[in-house]
Amino acid sequence: MSRDKTNALEIVDHATCTFCGCVCDDIKLHTDRQRIHKAERACVLGKAWFLNHTAEAKYPAALIDGREAPLDDAIALAADLLYEADMPLVYGMSNTTCEAQRECVAMADTISGIVDSHTSL
Ligand code: SF4
Repeated sequence: MSRDKTNALEIVDHATCTFCGCVCDDIKLHTDRQRIHKAERACVLGKAWFLNHTAEAKYPAALIDGREAPLDDAIALAADLLYEADMPLVYGMSNTTCEAQRECVAMADTISGIVDSHTSL
């Protein structure tokens, strides 16, 4: 780890962006250890993600109809909805690990669904 020209920020080389699924791994981050101030080589989406998202938990683990719910209840409801769907769509998967994406694809196979990422937006 090195420091920027002002010596105020630490530089993290070869950081990986997991936002869209392209997984760019050559990002250079400038950080004060509280937040990221600059994300060199990231695209506009990656910059927005690095500079505006934090690690703090802002939302509960699960919601049902917009209200906080036990995670097990939310999983059971999601399973019911997916099982009953005519053409289930497994969508999103940004900011998730490769292992989680693999599980999403396996789930789509199991329920004869289709997969799409938010990059189609
Ligand atoms: S959001 Fe941009 S920087 Fe991040 S992985 Fe996708 S293309 Fe790369």
